[in-house]
Amino acid sequence: MSVTEEIKQRLDIVDLISEYVPLKKSGRTYKGLCPFHQEKTPSFVVFPDTQGWHCFGACATGGDIFTFIQKREGMDFTEAVRFLAQRAGIELVPGSEGGAQQAEVRSRLRSVMEAAASFFVAQLASPGGQLARDYLAKRGVGQAAIEEFRLGYAPNAWRALSTHLLADGFSREELAEAGVISEGEEGRFYDRFRNRLIFPISDSRGNVVGFGARSLDGSEPKYLNSPQTPLFDKGKLLYGLDRARDGIRQSGTAVIVEGYMDAIAAHQAGYRNVVASMGTALSEAQLQSLARLAKRFVLALDPDAAGSVATLRGVAVAGEALQTESAASFDGGLLRFERRLSAEIRVAVLPQGRDPDELIREDAAAWQRLIAEAKPVVDYYFDVALAEAELSDAKGKVRFARRLLPVIARVPDALERAHHVERLARLIQVDPSLVERELAAVRRNAASAPDRDGLDGLQGGRDDSGQGALPEAFGPEEYALWFLSQNGSALAAANEALASLGSEPLSEADFLDPANRALFEALAQFGSGGRLALRSALSGDLRRRFDWLESAGAGEPEASEDYVWHDGIYACFFLRSRRLKHEARLLQLAQEGEEDQAELRQYALAVDKTRRQMQVLTRALASRSLLKAKE
Ligand SMILES: [Zn+2]
Repeated sequence: MSVTEEIKQRLDIVDLISEYVPLKKSGRTYKGLCPFHQEKTPSFVVFPDTQGWHCFGACATGGDIFTFIQKREGMDFTEAVRFLAQRAGIELVPGSEGGAQQAEVRSRLRSVMEAAASFFVAQLASPGGQLARDYLAKRGVGQAAIEEFRLGYAPNAWRALSTHLLADGFSREELAEAGVISEGEEGRFYDRFRNRLIFPISDSRGNVVGFGARSLDGSEPKYLNSPQTPLFDKGKLLYGLDRARDGIRQSGTAVIVEGYMDAIAAHQAGYRNVVASMGTALSEAQLQSLARLAKRFVLALDPDAAGSVATLRGVAVAGEALQTESAASFDGGLLRFERRLSAEIRVAVLPQGRDPDELIREDAAAWQRLIAEAKPVVDYYFDVALAEAELSDAKGKVRFARRLLPVIARVPDALERAHHVERLARLIQVDPSLVERELAAVRRNAASAPDRDGLDGLQGGRDDSGQGALPEAFGPEEYALWFLSQNGSALAAANEALASLGSEPLSEADFLDPANRALFEALAQFGSGGRLALRSALSGDLRRRFDWLESAGAGEPEASEDYVWHDGIYACFFLRSRRLKHEARLLQLAQEGEEDQAELRQYALAVDKTRRQMQVLTRALASRSLLKAKE
């Protein structure tokens, strides 16, 4: 995961923007007065689902947390990454590790956590813990599991735990650093967890390092975790791993579920090889801790989340993390064999409408079957892509193929790859050799890209720019950037073509990847001088990205200049049409909670305008097919 993705995952956009703009909930979105232009009625909308924002008023632009901070704080992209990384508690420069003092602090914090866990356990057994005990009984959690997982209860009081711990001789600073109290204004503080069921989260050695806490009275959020502390890094831990270690080793399989209750239910039913990802996308570090124990992984996915982008990314991370690890420890003839073995990741999609813990409790055999029949990752990708594909026209087929080719390209085994190529060709009804050729191009691009930071890079700290990670593939954004950078007049030509269709000039908002946005901004400023002038205006990671694009672009099939020109403009159209589609969706979301009739009409007009523009672009895009052009 790149540092920008990690920051996005840790910071909530609604929390962040609320500090600058008063926001009001409206349906699935939040609205407020735009901080970037003067207005009386709110047209600034924040989307928790996509973690984005958009001004539908005079600005007519939007973005993510990085663009918001850039605009609001007047920072450039790198500064915004630094600013937000600090907020998210992510260290960009390798910190000075070790030191006796640091070890002392950590050991002291571990004592705080242990004392807190014992306190919560005692509270669960006390008369005050009735509500929590009732809840556990209702969810079928028995006494043995309660004891094994050291479940607890945080009383419904402002300072129950803190009073107890202060009396035990811990200092207030220590409580704050351990994340068990929250500090308010004027020196006030209170217990972080109140009236909640407590799940202690342990490191692999069984030390309690954090807590997950479920609300019992319907208060939000439903689940509250410990904040980032010197001991607790949610992105690196798996819930239940200390209990599941032996089960995973013995069965050779690690099953990864999402929730605390799911993991507990599985263990209670005798499936001891189950851990929980605690709701976040899987990280390399999490998988690495499992890869030492087992060769087979099953991700048990919630049907609602199974097709989501975050989940797909998690699955992709899983594949790459495991392949990277084995690639580091084997070479030569063994490599392919070992790689294939260690990359065996399967996906089980749970039946609709049932939580895993329910399923396990009511029908343990069905659970076992589900895990045994989990599908290989590539098959899972096929399923997801198929569910969303429109294979009735050429454009739909191309989109479908483009989605699957990078996945197939990552399969290390040639025979297995050939199998997937056959299947893809059959589905889009083209000759397999054509798919083979497209795949070769994808693989060539991947091979010509400089090595991306592997696991070693992650462990040794990061570079501090935040733009360090290179693109994952030579996708439409990268292709457009490469095309635009090759010729000083390309951007003007693309803008002219867009204008001829009634569309505005390209802007950084047409790019989703924050680093690509930054590169586009530089390009808009310096690109007209040609590629060498542009390159000399870039520094550090933007230059690395530029060079990567140059080498990836050089891997494009030999073709006439016309061909490149055509494809470049095509890529720009694609980005714009994607953005319009996105904006139409955002507009509709924003509409949902709106009651003011005049406002609603405004939204309807805007949706209409966006749709019309999109249609014009879609027609322009459909006038030729990419696959055909390569024949
Ligand atoms: Zn605005």
